[in-house]
Formats: sequence, structure tokens, C-alpha cells
Amino acid sequence: MQNSNINQAEAYSQEAFHCGACSRYFPGRVVTWVDVSRTPQVKRQILRWEFNVVQCPNCGFRNFSDTPFFYEDFEEGFLIAVFPRIPDDRGAVEASIREKYGYYPLLEYFYDMAQIWTLLYLQEHYKANKNLRSLSRLGNGEGRILKFMRFLKEDPMMIDIREKLTESFFGDAPEDDLMDLLARAIYTLEEMFPWPLDRRCICGGDLTKEFKCCGKSAVLDDHDRLLSQHYIIYCPDCGESLAGASCSSCGRVYTWKLGTVASHEKKKKSGKKPQGKASETRPGPKTGPAGS
Ligand SMILES: [Zn+2]
Ligand SMILES: [Zn+2]
Ligand SMILES: [Zn+2]
Repeated sequence: MQNSNINQAEAYSQEAFHCGACSRYFPGRVVTWVDVSRTPQVKRQILRWEFNVVQCPNCGFRNFSDTPFFYEDFEEGFLIAVFPRIPDDRGAVEASIREKYGYYPLLEYFYDMAQIWTLLYLQEHYKANKNLRSLSRLGNGEGRILKFMRFLKEDPMMIDIREKLTESFFGDAPEDDLMDLLARAIYTLEEMFPWPLDRRCICGGDLTKEFKCCGKSAVLDDHDRLLSQHYIIYCPDCGESLAGASCSSCGRVYTWKLGTVASHEKKKKSGKKPQGKASETRPGPKTGPAGS
């Protein structure tokens, strides 16, 4: 990972590669540093699995470069050292990077291309989905990135994501499986709950009026019987998909993408629970009232 000039949006290195198909060696140029806030097209390349791919001039085979690179997002304030393959002297490598770039607000190490792919997917998904952002409990900016990073580095779900990613890009697994898995990753990140058909939050709050988009509450009554993991309701105004609601009292988020339950209210021996508004009056952390 030597970088001639880190003030540029990109740095490259010229290396000799070994073709996995015809076994010849050939020279190729790969990116060793990229600031995606200035070269956003790199995000697309990574998401299409086309980043740092070198083509053999002899047989035409496209080889994945194992060259490590720095992925910088200057606007978001993070730097990731990405190692497509774990280096032998991992500890020493990490230490020297920390010494050099420890001044970054957030410095991380990825040892797998699936991690950087999933990070980009999550960032794009939150950017594109306004209703997810309004339901989200992850906060914005750095808070959200930190939660993404922890998920990418620690959650066991990443093992499945890596597998499905490989299968759908390089095998013939249907992309739907991957998308379902990524949707579940988001529900995990958000600590969402299955949708209660009685529309009562665990705290007792009423979710009926929290089902909304474009400042308007949407009517759920026609949909009640249909709610399931694959059911989507579209906002008549903006066309965005709606799949849940967050409680304005406690901020818990519910989605029928995780299925439905009759109720989240704790079963009591007496059997009956008052259905009225909960006495709890804590203000919700995220969502305000509709149509303000
Ligand atoms: Zn070749
Ligand atoms: Zn809308
Ligand atoms: Zn609640």
C-alpha cells in the first residue's frame, strides 16, 4: 500500500498479475487509494464487482486483484484499509496504518470485499429510501456509519451475506435471495419487531396513526388481512414503499417484512388488558406527529 500522492482523489500502482486462467504474468494498473466523495463512480464499480479487476491481455480472463487499497470517504469522514485477502503480518500492518492515518475521525480495516460491498449497499439504501430514514433509530451521519461498521465487522449475518453475494454475482443463485437477506440485515440493524395486527406497540402506544408518508396518515384497514413479508403498500403521493411504522411514544419500529403477530402486549393471567392509550408519556426520539 504505497501511495505516491494522497492529496489526489485516486492513487494507482502498476503491478504484475498472475492470470488465473492461462497462468501467464501480465502488468496491470490498480487503484491503491480512492476518495469516493470525489470519484463517486468507484461506488458503482464496487457494487458491480468491477473494481480493481484486471484483464489478462493473453486470454482475456478478468482477474480480481488482491491488492489492498484505501477507501476514503472524505465527506463522511472515514478511511477504510481494505484487504481483499488477509495479510500475514496483520497486526503490524494495522499498527503502521494507525500510526500514519490515525488522525482520521474514523479508521477501519476490512479483510473482505463483501464488507465494503455491504457498506455501500447500506449507504445507498438509506439514501434512496426516505421512509426507512424516517423510521430509522440509527441516527444520521457518523452515528449511523458507526453502527454499520459494527455490523459489518461483528454480525454473524455477514457470513451469509458474503456467501449469497458470491453466489449471485458468480454463480446462478437468484438475486432475490440476496435482497431478502440484505433486507433482514437492515431489520437487524434497526432492531425492528414484527408487525402487531392489533397495532399496539409493546409500550401500549397506538401505531395506527403512525403509519404515514408525505405528512399524511395512510389507512391500513384495507390491507390488514394481506400483510406479510412480501406485501408492500405504496404512498399514493410519492410512490415510496411503506412497510411499517415507529411508535411515537417509545420509538420502537415495527414492520410486517418480519411477519406479523397478533399482539406484542404481554399476556396476563387475567387475560384482559385495557386497550386505551398507555399512561407512558415519554416523547419519542425520532418521529414527530404527522403533517406538522
Ligand atoms: Zn490469461
Ligand atoms: Zn409519500
Ligand atoms: Zn411504544
